[in-house]
Amino acid sequence: MPLTANDPSRKTWLPVPTASDFPIQNIPFGVFLTRDDIITIGTRIGDTAIDLGALHQLGYFEGIDLTDDIFLQDSLNDFIADGRKTWRLVRNRISDLFLEDNPKLRDNEEHRKEVLFSMEEIEMQLPVDVGDYTDFYASKEHATNVGSLFRDPENALLPNWLHIPIGYHGRSSSIVPSGTPIKRPVGQMKPGDDGTPGFGPCKLLDFELEMAFITTATNDLGKHVPINEAEENIFGLVLFNDWSARDIQAWEYVPLGPFLGKSFASTISPWIVTLDALHPFKTEGPKQDPTPLPYLQQKGKKNYDIHLQAIIQPENGDENVVANSNFKYMYWSMAQQLAHHTVNGCNVRSGDMMGSGTISGPTPDSYGSMLELSWKGTKPLTLNDGSQRKFINDHDTVILRGYCQNDTVRIGFGDCSGKVLPARES
Ligand code: CA
Repeated sequence: MPLTANDPSRKTWLPVPTASDFPIQNIPFGVFLTRDDIITIGTRIGDTAIDLGALHQLGYFEGIDLTDDIFLQDSLNDFIADGRKTWRLVRNRISDLFLEDNPKLRDNEEHRKEVLFSMEEIEMQLPVDVGDYTDFYASKEHATNVGSLFRDPENALLPNWLHIPIGYHGRSSSIVPSGTPIKRPVGQMKPGDDGTPGFGPCKLLDFELEMAFITTATNDLGKHVPINEAEENIFGLVLFNDWSARDIQAWEYVPLGPFLGKSFASTISPWIVTLDALHPFKTEGPKQDPTPLPYLQQKGKKNYDIHLQAIIQPENGDENVVANSNFKYMYWSMAQQLAHHTVNGCNVRSGDMMGSGTISGPTPDSYGSMLELSWKGTKPLTLNDGSQRKFINDHDTVILRGYCQNDTVRIGFGDCSGKVLPARES
């Protein structure tokens, strides 16, 4: 089915600010509360939110096989479960409806009032009910930096890393949408000289610059997703800040891996940008040496060129860009991650979320965590107000941004933002 919605020559009758993340070629999907406190599934063009539940009730999706209440839900899980053919039909139809020379909705003031909202009138919610969240560790630069910092620079990558997309099962209950404040976690830390573990508010709070992909129901228990079918099971992507308490993590992670140092919060950007919208930005990934096992061998372009930024904004202060990275640096692609995740017969469901792991580039200004940027606190960053950061302070806001850009189109994700609040007192 042609991706007509991707046509870069398309223009819309809605206003779209210059350099908006949300031109008519994007058409992301999200869930929001309307000005009437009704929860609905929607999309966004420029700074206008569009109520898909209302559009459907008014008959604008006629001819597409959708249940009556598919958009009148508090998550996209059922819509995503309908599969790629339906996603494409709906996205193309939305694009057609907002084309500048299509009068159908443009000239119907009554319908426009029912369907369109300014961003100030709505409140974004989590787009999916995340059943399971898995976090990978798929950036070679990040894994190398962490291995150098905590183990041995000479043997930074463990022997399995170049053969397996390493991952662990994360906690889905604490995934929150952009704008939700993050309370500094409390926990145990490595003992000092007296051998008694420390306890209290985390002192080494960090962000992790990641992206996460969201799947449809891919396979029944006992089956698997072949690598050449993996991408058609991926609905889209969000920005993902996998907040990390480095001191809690360092004490607890051996032998079973991350636990409370990670599970207190993860922030996502609320609009899921579809893999279809990102299609023009496919790119080669890093060369893989050694060649992976056959079930991980992917043909064609396996990565996506998405500029990524991490920003620290102190309270009442300016934004400071502390990292410029790119999703294209990923060593293991999303398709490889999904093929690997299911190779043992593990079933993946609609609305499941897979984090990429911290995405670090090759240069020190492209590292995706404070752990790496400040090299474990030995090289503090100086912000433009003169203050220094080894890790994240109370009242700092961390913002992740991401966008793709070519000669004709810019597709972005909006903000993935969270402000750190002091730890609880007891
Ligand atoms: Ca992570």
